[in-house]
Amino acid sequence: MEHPENSEEYKGLVVNKGIEQPASVNPYLKRKPRKRELSVAEFVEGIVKGNITILSRAVTLVESVRPEHQAIAQEVIEKCLPYSGNSIRIGISGVPGAGKSTSIDVFGLHVLEKGGKLAVLAIDPSSERSKGSILGDKTRMEQLSVHPDSFIRPSPSAGSLGGVARKTRETIILCEAAGFDKIFVETVGVGQSETAVHSMVDFFLLIQLAGTGDELQGIKRGIMEMADGIVINKADGNNIDKAKLAASQFRNALHLFPAPDSGWTPQVLTYSGFYNIGVKEIWDMVYEYIDFVKGNGYFEFRRNEQSKYWMYESINEQLRDSFYHNAKIESMLAEKERQVLSGNLTSFIAAKALLDTYFEDLRK
Ligand code: GDP
Repeated sequence: MEHPENSEEYKGLVVNKGIEQPASVNPYLKRKPRKRELSVAEFVEGIVKGNITILSRAVTLVESVRPEHQAIAQEVIEKCLPYSGNSIRIGISGVPGAGKSTSIDVFGLHVLEKGGKLAVLAIDPSSERSKGSILGDKTRMEQLSVHPDSFIRPSPSAGSLGGVARKTRETIILCEAAGFDKIFVETVGVGQSETAVHSMVDFFLLIQLAGTGDELQGIKRGIMEMADGIVINKADGNNIDKAKLAASQFRNALHLFPAPDSGWTPQVLTYSGFYNIGVKEIWDMVYEYIDFVKGNGYFEFRRNEQSKYWMYESINEQLRDSFYHNAKIESMLAEKERQVLSGNLTSFIAAKALLDTYFEDLRK
């Protein structure tokens, strides 16, 4: 900038030129380089080699809602498919406080005694609301979280239960391709999430508690019917008798259900996760079941049925998404809902009007 004081005519003080000010940012400080995006081939190679960092990054892409992430994730999953499937998948469900994390910690150590690798995943439909999952949190599984052969991942949080479940199912594929031969899928025992977990596991284990006197009251019939094994936790101290009583009540109740398609009779056992009592018996039962259903063909059958289920789930999810994210539908929906609520339109006519608009818009 020109200073008028420096001109010839100016007789006042001379103003010196300032010196250049140093940058406010330290130029010697090296920026941390951003993580380079990996190619699909690099992801697949890393996963198949069992590289946990790359596996985690791939799972993050699976969980991402960004279309460009989804595109890579889907390709990675497809290329990992031939390496997947070689595991036993166990669903573990129980209400909060039933002792899931305590149990998964000891169950995990128990199954890892035989070698192999264990992944613990979770489906928690409430995680979006609570902004953070209470399931699959590493701090809840103290011993397993530091075990070199375990991989613990909390529930994906974005989207509907269907979306969360799909992501977990896709993560199973990646974990299996990375050499994890035991997969636990944890869920909280409150209803629909069990159906989702049941649709992706080989064995569904239900953790129950004794002591309230009406054990069977609070548990939904549908959930019990899904169980391949029911285990009563906290059978320790002066709770042992109550746990045994609860077990016999569950056994009696199970008799009332039709025999499962697997040909396997669901068993009821008592144990203590905290004191590590009866844990071996639970896993003997699980392995016995796996042998049994591999022998009679039900193992394959169930996995095929699940693949079919997920194909239809995926179609339903994408159709629903496409419909509700259609601009015309978005602009009409609230008004139609108002008309239905005020009795000016029947539900069916409103639905038809919306669907007609949608299909017409697609044809354009
Ligand atoms: P989650 O909510 O299902 O994951 O349950 P937690 O594993 O966090 O357990 C809930 C509470 O029950 C904790 O205070 C545990 O210490 C306790 N607990 C878990 N397993 C047992 C057990 O086998 N015996 C007893 N007495 N307490 C247990």
